Amino acid sequence: MTGGASGIGAAVCERLATDGVRVFLADLDEVAGAGIAARIDAVHLTLDVGDVARVRAAVERHGPFDILVNSAGVDQHALFVQTDPDDWHRLLQVNLVAVLATTHAVLPAMREAGYGRIVNIASEAGRLGSHGAAVYAAAKGGVLAFTRSIARENARKGITVNAVAPGPIDTPMLRRAVAAGGERLMAAMTGATLAGRLGTPDEVAAAVAFLASADAGYITGETLGVSGGMGCGA
Ligand code: NAD
Repeated sequence: MTGGASGIGAAVCERLATDGVRVFLADLDEVAGAGIAARIDAVHLTLDVGDVARVRAAVERHGPFDILVNSAGVDQHALFVQTDPDDWHRLLQVNLVAVLATTHAVLPAMREAGYGRIVNIASEAGRLGSHGAAVYAAAKGGVLAFTRSIARENARKGITVNAVAPGPIDTPMLRRAVAAGGERLMAAMTGATLAGRLGTPDEVAAAVAFLASADAGYITGETLGVSGGMGCGA
């Protein structure tokens, strides 16, 4: 589980632990990660998931894993013309390259075991695009295409690979964006959903827990929107 120290990732950790899964939590935030891990009796590792070599070493040391959930993510709110290549690199490294790194590290053991569940937290931005978050949307769109590709390559090995595409979810990431963008941004985000409200991290965690379960064995290569209908028709 990456990004399990906050928001959606923390809710997924709690939900999986409640469902009886033994959780290994990797996150950059040492203090929050250790706090969640203590609460749910998980193993916690302070790790930058954008560091491909360290991801591989962590999986070699702590694996094998039968479930991988990629939730670590960073966003940025600026018009594309206002961004620079350092921004692009950081956004792509955490939101896309880290998903490649964790998947590449866990897949050989899953293939050997003939079982695996991979769930990637993407975003409706990856399907619809996003005004003010073009590079983030590009990374998430990449995650969606990667998810379908890895599903194709591993379906006959008992491994399912799916994505969840959240809409606006009430997490620290969203609250930071609203603090910068103000009430107009909040109104735009809730107005873009059919439900007219923010989602909760627990609502995303419920979808992840289902896709990560043995029950979801005949579902692969899918993108499940948890977005109050925002992605309806996408
Ligand atoms: P959050 O900021 O609350 O949590 C993100 C977590 O990722 C944090 O614990 C952070 O420490 C960790 N992280 C960031 N960079 C990392 C790195 N390099 N290595 C390891 N850990 C790192 O955000 P959230 O809202 O819970 O977002 C979770 C996921 O959901 C992200 O992938 C995000 O893009 C996606 N998402 C969120 C929303 C939303 O509205 N909140 C909408 C769509 C998609």
